[in-house]
Amino acid sequence: MSTADNADNTSSKKPVKLQAVKGMNDVLPVAGIHWENLEMLLREWLSAYGYRLIKTPVLENTALFRRGIGEVTDIVEKEMFSFVDRLNGDELTLRPEFTAGIARATIEHNLTYAAPQRVYSMGPVFRHERPQRGRYRQFHQLDVEALGFSGPDIDAELIVMLSRLWREMGLDDVRLEINCLGEASERLAHRQALIAYFEANADQLDEDAKRRLHSNPLRILDTKNPAMQELANKAPRLSEFLGDESRAHYEGVKSLLNDAGIQYIENPRLVRGLDYYNLTVFEWITDRLGAQGTICGGGRYDGLIEVLGGKPTPAIGFAIGLERLLELYLEVNQPDDMPDLDIYVVHQGEGTARRAFSLAEELRDAGFAVVLHAGGGSFKSQMKKADVSGASMALILGENELANGTVMAKLLREESSQHELKQDELADAVFQLLYGEGEED
Ligand code: ATP
Ligand code: MG
Repeated sequence: MSTADNADNTSSKKPVKLQAVKGMNDVLPVAGIHWENLEMLLREWLSAYGYRLIKTPVLENTALFRRGIGEVTDIVEKEMFSFVDRLNGDELTLRPEFTAGIARATIEHNLTYAAPQRVYSMGPVFRHERPQRGRYRQFHQLDVEALGFSGPDIDAELIVMLSRLWREMGLDDVRLEINCLGEASERLAHRQALIAYFEANADQLDEDAKRRLHSNPLRILDTKNPAMQELANKAPRLSEFLGDESRAHYEGVKSLLNDAGIQYIENPRLVRGLDYYNLTVFEWITDRLGAQGTICGGGRYDGLIEVLGGKPTPAIGFAIGLERLLELYLEVNQPDDMPDLDIYVVHQGEGTARRAFSLAEELRDAGFAVVLHAGGGSFKSQMKKADVSGASMALILGENELANGTVMAKLLREESSQHELKQDELADAVFQLLYGEGEED
């Protein structure tokens, strides 16, 4: 394909070079195998806990995210891909996360009417961030939501479930941080106490802290200024403002985690980015991925469904960033990157193409994965393609075989002689060769 850059003025007809949108990646076939393997592993793991698939649209009305995520969050303030549909004026947004859409669907279809629901979804989400390693504008999440459950047991189940996943994937250095955010009224009391505390120590505040004192006093706790560390460390803690119910919930989660032998770090500064969280929040973090080390974040959002117009419905969920998880997986494991292919069919000579075509279909009927060579070429060049195809076996059909009603078989993953197989019981013979016990001839 010819290309032209914008400065090219020799011809106005040259097509502009088309490229993917910045921060949005193509997944090419070799990586595609890794994605498929990861997704398969995830689906098996999810079904072991009874989670079922839910799919919601990639596009939602912008109002859903404004209300569901919160106006003063990073996502809503600066990360959403929002636009007006020029055909009808609708204000739409590419989903920046799954929870709001799933909550909307829960309300719209009365999903938790008869019983609580364990659901998951997987797919692309969109955030207008500065692209860098582990941070993209289109990325993928596995999102898991337990809708209609209020007890600490489900919070612990989600965490235990995640720890099983890391174990199954061979990831042994993912650490868990947890915190309890309490309820909105408790956070408000804490906030007021923080403001009072910092006001009483106003002489020690730097410029940043003064600016944040009334808009976002929590952020002062995150200060990087060494001169303010001590002040921040001695500030009132949210944990001191939790009521009995919040405390009991948190203790309930922790004791189940202790029973399950799961280690955690209590991080009082873990608040998560979205407005709707309450009680339990958690993140799983690794040091292997550079700056973007959080692979999973989640928490309870008992108020969200009501805020969106549904009946009060307690719920908790988490999202895993799949690009980050896959990168980590490939760093720790060396997974196969060959496709799961059984047979590559090579054919040459008068009349062989038609017969090869029908034999390949018969083999597929019997359950084998088969690639039929397309495009002609010498036996030698076809065999080269068979070798790199990842297939376990090549089946070769020439004019002699066609005349004799046979096929030559060659195992590609081991040194072996050729085997002559009969066409009329081909599938059985292939099965014997691939899986039969050590027969050699
Ligand atoms: P971060 O602090 O890294 O921005 P976040 O709090 O915005 O993360 P969540 O909204 O909790 O992230 O999303 C869940 C997970 O999705 C994250 O833990 C991370 O693994 C992944 N993730 C978030 N933003 C991106 C992105 N822009 N590109 C790739 N993965 C992302
Ligand atoms: Mg973010």
